[in-house]
Order: sequence, then structure tokens, then C-alpha cells
Amino acid sequence: MTERRERVVVVGAGLAGSLAALYLARRGYQVDVHERRPDPRSALTSPEGRSINLGLSARGMRALDEVGLLADVLKRSVPMRGRVVHAPDGDVRFQPYGVREHEILHSVLREELIALVVDAAEAEPAVRFHFGSRLTRLDRDTATVEVAPTDGGPTTRVTADLVVGADGVFSTVRQHMQHGRRADYAQEFLPWGYRELTIPVGVDGRPRVRLEALHVWPGHEALMVAHPNRDGSLTCSLFTAHEGPVSFAALDSPEAVRAFFRQRFPDAEELMPDLVEEMTAHPVGHLVTVRTAPWRHADRVVLVGDAAHAVYPFYGQGMNSAFEDCLVLDGCLAAHPDRAAALAAYEAARKPHTDVLAELSTANFVDLRDRVHRFGYTASAAADRVLSRLLPDRWASLYAMVSHTTTPYADALARARRQDRILRTAGAGLAVTAGLAVAAAVRAGRRRSTGR
Ligand SMILES: Cc1cc2nc3c(=O)[nH]c(=O)nc-3n(C[C@H](O)[C@H](O)[C@H](O)COP(=O)(O)OP(=O)(O)OC[C@H]3O[C@@H](n4cnc5c(N)ncnc54)[C@H](O)[C@@H]3O)c2cc1C
Repeated sequence: MTERRERVVVVGAGLAGSLAALYLARRGYQVDVHERRPDPRSALTSPEGRSINLGLSARGMRALDEVGLLADVLKRSVPMRGRVVHAPDGDVRFQPYGVREHEILHSVLREELIALVVDAAEAEPAVRFHFGSRLTRLDRDTATVEVAPTDGGPTTRVTADLVVGADGVFSTVRQHMQHGRRADYAQEFLPWGYRELTIPVGVDGRPRVRLEALHVWPGHEALMVAHPNRDGSLTCSLFTAHEGPVSFAALDSPEAVRAFFRQRFPDAEELMPDLVEEMTAHPVGHLVTVRTAPWRHADRVVLVGDAAHAVYPFYGQGMNSAFEDCLVLDGCLAAHPDRAAALAAYEAARKPHTDVLAELSTANFVDLRDRVHRFGYTASAAADRVLSRLLPDRWASLYAMVSHTTTPYADALARARRQDRILRTAGAGLAVTAGLAVAAAVRAGRRRSTGR
């Protein structure tokens, strides 16, 4: 008699859900994935206008590598070796992302990446995708879901052994799982939103700016970043307030759009021939942080990705941490035959770190907006690079630990704070030594001039 495979329903075939499905199938589960949107492979652009590209870094790469997808993903990505910062005074500077060859990020189109992971998951005989199928209810104690076709039609009930909520920041699985329980939930909207714009390839067929970098236009009231694409174009995200004197609401005419760009990002305006049309046509997206607990219910329900921990996008870690969730969850399922214990171990291993990631992502918003072009920031980044070269095993910047290693986020922050204290003490020591040397020189000079 063949042993029954345990059944998992994954809700959401975004980045986290598709990769989770692949991991779970390889761990021996029978997996059904329900996704309310159409198949990403047939939809040219996402219905909600989120045809964004994302920076893939060490954590995401490790999780993709573990299931053999990394090489394919890298073939479809553009390496970003550092940031090109376009300062408001017209100064343009390159800031490398690291000191070693591999310390780079990779720009990849979200829809292309999802399609690739869905293809890989679907190639597993144990995985079935149901697109256009929306979760409407969950009974957390029996792992029973109700799903309804988005184009109408009757609701179906499916009972599984485990339900994985990978349904994003406004997760329905989370709501049903936490309903009526002692659950913590904090949701914070940034007063700023974002809109996607394009720097198309030049008329000569060549990129209009250096391609292998993330371009950043800092600014206290509006910030823009641009990721490179394989065809030589760049996809920009313009961030500014939703409402107020400087805001998306105030950009209500072609003149207002042009004046806004001319004043704040003059070198970008000339790179964006479709600027005014895109500002009208593209929607404004929201930016949300969610901190919540619990992430699981008994051995029946578990959350991954944005459903468990949505963060502002300014550290480029939302997808990377969602992929890391899949890897860690898989490791916990392997280590604990008792699934309730595995889910508890997963939450304990992840939550303290994703809470820190939320903090880091908010802090990086301020850095990208206000500091990235200032002397203090560039000098401290340069000092970090020198120390990383001189003491490769003992020194790593916070950025390098977050982006180029899989050091858990809270451990990276704690180490960076220790390093800061050392630098401050060394700085104070140097200042005292320099002060004593100057004082000694002055005294010696006086002695010489007074004959004492
Ligand atoms: C502007 C911007 C830039 C970003 N840049 C980066 C970056 O450079 N690097 C990085 O690592 N991250 C980045 N991120 C974050 C990243 O996009 C998210 O963290 C990631 O998409 C989360 O994946 P997910 O699968 O958890 O959620 P989602 O991608 O939101 O997927 C959830 C899926 O669930 C489906 N769903 C929802 N409800 C239901 C339901 N009831 N029934 C069925 N299906 C449902 C949705 O349709 C969706 O497909 C960025 C985000 C933004 C907004």
C-alpha cells in the first residue's frame, strides 16, 4: 500500500507562495496553490500595475540556489555593482555595494521571476496551481479552505493537512487564523507612495545611463530609484507624499510634473521622454509595514512572506526575506517530525529578525532620502570599505551583512552597533591623542619662545 502524501494548500502564488510550493513538494507534500490572479505567465503586465523590478541579494539567492533555480534567475537579471547617486546639486557619484567581486545585487523583473519559479514548481508532479481562485474562508482547526473562482461560479471546500498563507500584506489567511485569538497586529502606512516610470533605451539602442547600477535621486520631499533591465531600459520608482504641497496629488497637470522634475531631478527629466504620460497612466502604490504574531496555528496553518512581515522596500529585502522564510521553514520541517513543533521553531527563528528588518527598512528610507549624498554618509561608507579590506574576517558594514550575507538581521544589527562603538571609541581616542599632540607642540613652541 502506498503511503498517503500529506496535503498542503498554499494561498497566493506570488514570490513566497510559488517558492514555498516548490520546497514543500520536494519535502514530500501534495501541494495545491490557489492564486486569485490569472496565471502570471499569460498576463503580460500585472493587473495592479506592479510590474516592478527587484534587487535580489544573498538571502534570496541562497534560497533559490537550494532548489537549483539560481543560475536561471541570474541569466535573466542585470548585475548592480553599486549605486549611482544623482545629488540635487548635479553631482553624480558611484558608490560600490561592497569590496569583493560577489558583493553585488541583481535586478530582476518581478513577473519574470514569479513565472520562472511557477514553472519550476509546476514541473513537480505533486504541485497543482489554480489561478483565478480566491480564498474566501479558512477553518484553522481543520485546515479547511473555501475557494471561489474570481470570474464567478460556486465555492469549493478543500481540507488539507496544512495551509500556508502566502497571500501578501493584506493576508486573508492571517485574518482567519488570528480571528478571536490573543494576536498582535501593527500595520503602518508610510505617508509616501510610489509610482513606476521608465527610462527607455536610447534612440541609438544603448542605455541612456550606466546600466549595471541602481540609480538613486535623493531628496527630502521626493526620492527616485531606478533598476536596470536586460534590454537597456531602467524601471524607476518615484516616491513622494500622497497628499500635500509636494505630493502625487499636487502633480495634477503636465506643467506641474515637468516643473517638479526640473526642480528636483533635472538630469532625470531629459532621460524620460514618456514622463508626463506615465505619471497620468500609472497608479500610485501604497507602502506598508506589518508586524504581527502569531504566524502559525497548531500544526495546521503558517504564514510566509509579506503575510507574516511586510516591510517598506527601502532596504530591498522584502522578497529576499520571503525567500529566506521558505528555506528556514523547510529546514524546520526537516528537523522536527512533529509539525506543530516545526512551525513553532520556524516562527521563533524568523520573527525577531524580520522585526529588526522592519526597523532597518524604515531607517534606510531616511538614509536614501536625506543622507546618501552627504559627506558624512559617504565618508563612513568609505571607512567601512577600508576596514572590511584590512580586517576581512572581523569587519563588515551593516549594509554588507544584510545584503551580501545570510547573517540573521538582528545579529547583523547587533554586530554593526558593536563596530560603531569601537569606531567611536577609536575616534575619541584619536581625537584625544591628536589634542594631546597639538597641546604638547604648542607648549614646546611656547617654551622655545619664552626660553623655559
Ligand atoms: C516598490 C517596491 C519595491 C520593492 N523592491 C524590492 C527589492 O528590491 N527587493 C526585495 O527583496 N523586495 C522588494 N520589494 C518587496 C517585495 O515585492 C515583496 O516583499 C514580495 O513581493 C512579497 O512576496 P509575497 O509572495 O509574500 O507577497 P505578494 O507578492 O504580495 O504575493 C501575494 C499573492 O497572494 C495573492 N492573494 C492575495 N490574497 C489572496 C486570496 N484571498 N486568495 C488567493 N490569492 C491571494 C496575490 O494575488 C499575490 O499574488 C519591493 C516592494 C515594493 C512595493
